[in-house]
Amino acid sequence: MTTPETAEVSLDSLIQGGLRGGFIESSDRYVDEINNMIIQRKRSLVIDFHDLLISNKDLADMLLERPQLVIQAGSEAVRQAITERDPELAKSVRNFYMRFRRLPESLPIRRLRSEVLGKLIMVEGIITRQTPPKHYLRRSVFRCSQCGYEVEIPQPTTGFVQPPKRCPKCGALNSMVFVEERSEFIDWQKVIVQEKPEELPPGQLPRSIEAILLDDLVDTVKPGDRVYLVGIMNLDLADLRKGKPPVVSSFMEVNYVESQQRELVEIEITPEDEKRILELSKMPDVRERIIKSIAPSIYGMEDIKESIAAYSSAAYPRSTQTALGLGVTYTYCSLATQVWLRRSCLGS
Ligand SMILES: [Zn+2]
Repeated sequence: MTTPETAEVSLDSLIQGGLRGGFIESSDRYVDEINNMIIQRKRSLVIDFHDLLISNKDLADMLLERPQLVIQAGSEAVRQAITERDPELAKSVRNFYMRFRRLPESLPIRRLRSEVLGKLIMVEGIITRQTPPKHYLRRSVFRCSQCGYEVEIPQPTTGFVQPPKRCPKCGALNSMVFVEERSEFIDWQKVIVQEKPEELPPGQLPRSIEAILLDDLVDTVKPGDRVYLVGIMNLDLADLRKGKPPVVSSFMEVNYVESQQRELVEIEITPEDEKRILELSKMPDVRERIIKSIAPSIYGMEDIKESIAAYSSAAYPRSTQTALGLGVTYTYCSLATQVWLRRSCLGS
C-alpha cells in the first residue's frame, strides 16, 4: 500500500482484506465481541485504536486521515461478520457501526483549527447541554406520482436532498414526491462539549464545540458528564448563504463517546476508626462538630453547613410522606451520621 493520501483504495478491498479478514476475524478478542453483539443485540463494534495500529499500521493511519471511508468500510465489515453468523439478525438491523476508541492523543478543544477538518480526532470535555432526541433523515425515498417508480437517495452529512427533476423511468417532469414511510430516519441528538475547567487558561472564558450523536449513541451521556469523544470534524455548510462571507462553523460527527466515570472511593473503616466514631457519637456536641467540619475555612453560614451535613449524610427517602421530617427521612447513612441523626433528631 502506498501512502494513505495518494492510495486509490477500493471499499471492497478495505472490507474484505483489511478490516474483516485481516483484522476482525483474525483476532480472538473481536471475534468474541462479534458473538457478544449477537447475544446482546448490539449494533456497534468498538475497536481499540491501538489494536488496529498493531495489526495494520497503514490502515490505522488511513483511519486518521480518511475516517469516513474507513468507518464506512468497517461498518460494512461488521455487517458481513454478523450476517455470516446470524443472517436473521443482520437482516432485521438497518445499521451496524464500527467505532474507535482511545486515539493516541486528545486535542484540547481550544486548539481545534481548520487543519483537523475531515480528520478523526479525540477531544475531552464536559457535556453542558443536550437536545432531546430528534429524527435525522438518513435516506430519502422519492416516488413518481405518474408511474410509481421509486428512487432512494442517501442524505449527505449536511445540506438538503432535492428530489430528481425527472422520473428516471417514465421521464415525467416534477413528478417525484417524498415518501415518508419508506424513508429512513435515525435518532439524532446534539450535545455541547465544553473544555475542562483545569484546561482553561487564567482569565479566559471556556470554549465549547457542538457534537452530533447518532443512532445508538443518543442518550448515552448526559449534561455534567466528563467525556471523551472520538469523531470527525465536519463543516456546517448550511451556514453558506448568498451575499454573506463564506465563513462556516464546524461540528463533530461523533463516532465514539465514553463517560469518564469517577471511580467511587471505597472507604474502609478499621476497628480503630469504629472505636473513634463511637466515641465521637457519645460527645454531647457531636452535632455541632459535624456541622463545623463542613468547609471549616468558611466563616459562619451555620444554617447552610447544617443543611449540607444533613444532605450529605442522606441516602434514599423512606417515603414521600415522611420526607418532611429530617429524622425519619433517611434509611441509609454512614455509621457516624446514623448515630448523629439518632442522637440529635430522634433524641435517643
Ligand atoms: Zn415515472
